[in-house]
Amino acid sequence: MKVGILGGGQLGRMLALAGYPLGLRFRFMDPAADAPAGHLAECVGGAYDDLAALDRFAEGLDAVTYEFENVPVAAAKHLAAKLPVYPPPGALDAAQDRLTEKTLFNQLGIGTPPFEAVQTEAELKAAAERIGLPAVFKTRRMGYDGKGQAVLRDAADVEQAWKQLGGTPLILEGFVRFERELSILGVRAQDGATAFYPLAENHHRDGILRLSLAPAPDLTPALQAQAEALSQKVLDRLQYVGVLAIELFQVNGTLLANEMAPRVHNSGHWTIEGAACSQFENHLRAVCGLPLGGTAAMPSAMLNLIGSAPPPEAILAVPGAHFHWYGKDPRPGRKIGHVTLCEQAPGDLAPRLEQLKKRIP
Ligand code: AMP
Repeated sequence: MKVGILGGGQLGRMLALAGYPLGLRFRFMDPAADAPAGHLAECVGGAYDDLAALDRFAEGLDAVTYEFENVPVAAAKHLAAKLPVYPPPGALDAAQDRLTEKTLFNQLGIGTPPFEAVQTEAELKAAAERIGLPAVFKTRRMGYDGKGQAVLRDAADVEQAWKQLGGTPLILEGFVRFERELSILGVRAQDGATAFYPLAENHHRDGILRLSLAPAPDLTPALQAQAEALSQKVLDRLQYVGVLAIELFQVNGTLLANEMAPRVHNSGHWTIEGAACSQFENHLRAVCGLPLGGTAAMPSAMLNLIGSAPPPEAILAVPGAHFHWYGKDPRPGRKIGHVTLCEQAPGDLAPRLEQLKKRIP
């Protein structure tokens, strides 16, 4: 089968690397001329709303998926009229807007931070009074890695935040004093079968994921069951096919959903070496109508390389380090690679992670 992937970043690249052993072939589409996945397979250049480019991309493909959740829904629908597109465009639609996403969670009985849609400064002031401060003010669309957000702590922040973000559809959310941030990665096959990876605990720096630990430390069966149940509801409601990531806040043993990504996710990179079947392979299995692979995992840690990185020899000197380089030019704040460590003997993960952290800025 030949699979088309919209987006040619590192997620696309790792999808292809997982798919070649299955005999799959790939074609990418990306507006950037030097997309990281373009090193591995043909890459059609062009904007995602360029219908002629989309048609060139679709020629001869068996299925299409995406590695980037802000692909225009119209582009996904245009392709879906010709060939199977997974996850379904409806999932893209739901995930692209923080308001529809959180409304969906609540409709399914999944808890979220309190939220209100905001269009005007007066609405912001009224929402801030109802929700209370502190609160988090976010653009509804196109936010990532903490961009397009402001934390409101007092009344003066409200005006300042409106000046900064006003003029586009927005959402105000109550500020959650969470114990930790987690993510659940679920995968649903075309026949409705599902599988879930153990929850990952995620740590951010400057709004960018820096470290994932999986299974999350002190993970209880009850917390895992809670996460799987909420992911299952979303997967079934969206008639989802592929990997879905849901980012969660843990508060007093309860999980609140923050957002979802209808694609493979950075907090699942550890599955390449740490799980029986990686998130990338499982995504492709689902998209291609194959049976899902196992999600059993060994304790793993994944550290992102952000902005700059030491030379590979410094990283590979840490015993058991799995080094992944994305072929991107280093730039401040840019994810340029990651490193995974898996437990080799009981208790050996934490000291090796400390060794690794010392080498990575
Ligand atoms: P997001 O773009 O929604 O994933 O937000 C980026 C980061 O901001 C999250 O990983 C959290 O650390 C923090 N954050 C977002 N929303 C909230 C909230 N409602 N309460 C507290 N922290 C938040």
